[in-house]
Amino acid sequence: MLRELIDKFYLDNQRNKEQNHFYITDAGRCARSLFFKFKNAPRKEMEASVLRLFDHGDHIHQLIMKPLLSIRDIHVVASEVNIPPQEIISGRSDAIVSDGKNLYVLDIKSMNSMIFDKLIEPKEENIDQLQLYLHYFKIPKGILLYVNKNTLGLKEFFVDYSQERALSLIASLQETKKKIDAGLVPDRIQGYPADWQCRYCQFREICGMAGAGEIKWDSFKDRIEGFTKSAQI
Ligand code: SF4
Repeated sequence: MLRELIDKFYLDNQRNKEQNHFYITDAGRCARSLFFKFKNAPRKEMEASVLRLFDHGDHIHQLIMKPLLSIRDIHVVASEVNIPPQEIISGRSDAIVSDGKNLYVLDIKSMNSMIFDKLIEPKEENIDQLQLYLHYFKIPKGILLYVNKNTLGLKEFFVDYSQERALSLIASLQETKKKIDAGLVPDRIQGYPADWQCRYCQFREICGMAGAGEIKWDSFKDRIEGFTKSAQI
């Protein structure tokens, strides 16, 4: 009884509404999947257990912030800080901290032991997100703090701001936005279908239907509607 009710709670709250602007987590992501998100295209639902893991990640953030707020050698200047409002992207960093000399944007990421143990450098997609925080906060240094969900072990990496990388990420999102407005489904990413983004992509099935290359959304939309009804993705 409880299991079904708890699962339903998560599934009902699953965010699959139309998206109107980019989130920091969209930085560096497949333009086609972003297009489908904006158009609220049919997607494979996430399992309730995966959604619970996201919630678990939030609790881990609180666990990390607790000591940081008490340690004298580090000062939490602000936590859960929104990036300044602008047209293209929104996001909230975990914290901005100071060691008395420098400010750092802190981004906390949690992962299972299997991934954590192999981690010898920060993940590229996490650097992308952090670069945008550094850009919008105008802070030249950031820290990616990884937490092992199974053992609660920690690894940290310092990242310097790269204006070139941040501007390129913003330009890519602007380009994707133009395609969204023009109703042009972008091409697949280069590494399709082996890329990690494809392996976890909720739009994988309709992406397969769309095939390679750019296509018009208006005509593709009709094909997906038929597919949704018959295949119930
Ligand atoms: S399956 Fe891969 S290429 Fe297709 S939308 Fe998803 S991430 Fe992009």
